[in-house]
Amino acid sequence: MPGSCDVVVVGGGQAGLAAGYYLRRTGLDYVILDAQSQPGGAWRHGWESLRLFSPAEYSPLPGWGMPRQAGEEFPTAGHVVDYLRAYEQRYELRVRRPVRIRDVRRAGEHLLVETDAGAWLARYVISATGTWECPYVPDLPGREEFAGRQLHTVHYTSPEEFRGQRVVVVGGGNSAAQILAEVSRAAETTWVTARPARFMPDDVDGRVLFGVATRKAAGGAGGGVSDLGDIVMVPSVRDARDRGVLDRRAMFVRLTERGVRWADGTEQGCDAVIWCTGFRASLAHLSPLLPGCCQGEVATEGTRSVDEPRLYLLGYGDWTGPASATLVGAGRTAKATVADIASRLDGQP
Ligand code: FAD
Repeated sequence: MPGSCDVVVVGGGQAGLAAGYYLRRTGLDYVILDAQSQPGGAWRHGWESLRLFSPAEYSPLPGWGMPRQAGEEFPTAGHVVDYLRAYEQRYELRVRRPVRIRDVRRAGEHLLVETDAGAWLARYVISATGTWECPYVPDLPGREEFAGRQLHTVHYTSPEEFRGQRVVVVGGGNSAAQILAEVSRAAETTWVTARPARFMPDDVDGRVLFGVATRKAAGGAGGGVSDLGDIVMVPSVRDARDRGVLDRRAMFVRLTERGVRWADGTEQGCDAVIWCTGFRASLAHLSPLLPGCCQGEVATEGTRSVDEPRLYLLGYGDWTGPASATLVGAGRTAKATVADIASRLDGQP
């Protein structure tokens, strides 16, 4: 039943579960509220071929690592979902779902967490709602005019739906590169990025990124992940390079009814535009506490909000801790967050 507790965690994806693991060990009264009806967070919604960049042993949550997936070096998204489901069962984490938090506001000594299943009073709130629910598409002219199909990464499932079409893929990150790689096998593709694409060396995969994140978490400079490039050369992307597909064009200036217009005034027809243009932190529920927070990052010290010290933010990106939006990074920042909350509650009635 709704009521009051020491800590309410908003969101039951990997970051929320990692927080739950450490909260359980402190003995604090906590609940994890998750909007989805099933475990798995964003991993339930990726495209069909989505896989981890690294072998299972490089993507552990605290306490119990991800088991290997039979016959697969790089686990599928479905395997990650199975792992997250087993993880919350193994530690009997107190997850309530489906419960959607509408907003979090101040209520005297407490924070009031209002949901579609009643209200909770909390001494501290950890927000771990991820980014998947806030896809970002740049505001380019002509988007309303274009008569073809436009979709964001979140709605992409497989290349088959584009077979035989002319497709423009927009974005310079891993989603764009991986989607381009497979769509180019079924369709005529054009790749568009705002800046020149930056590829990591072929031998850099999640194992190297894991090492970089570990050094950064330990306080070392260690060479940032961004120093290595943006795009991990997974096998499908290497194959696309070898087929000559990774030939990017600079951003078009507008969409037209039938396609895109380039800076030199020429037009190119296309049937679909796939926007692989990233995400924003999903923070609408925090607007009563932090007006304007939906515009992007929130001011934090570590993971603690500067403007509302009873609020912590977990798992959104490097601004909430090194590699905190990855499986391995989520655990590290959750540990520090829960330790901080526990020390503040220590000795309080
Ligand atoms: P989510 O998994 O999004 O979980 C948030 C949960 O909160 C969801 O269940 C959501 O429904 C819920 N929620 C949201 N709003 C509310 C609300 N108001 N009330 C209640 N519940 C709410 N990481 C790696 O470690 N390795 C990889 O190889 C890797 N590859 C990636 C590839 C892609 C294409 C993408 C997009 C990400 C990848 N990541 C990878 C990054 C990362 O692991 C995921 O983005 C991860 O899912 C983020 O976890 P999270 O718990 O922060 O958020």
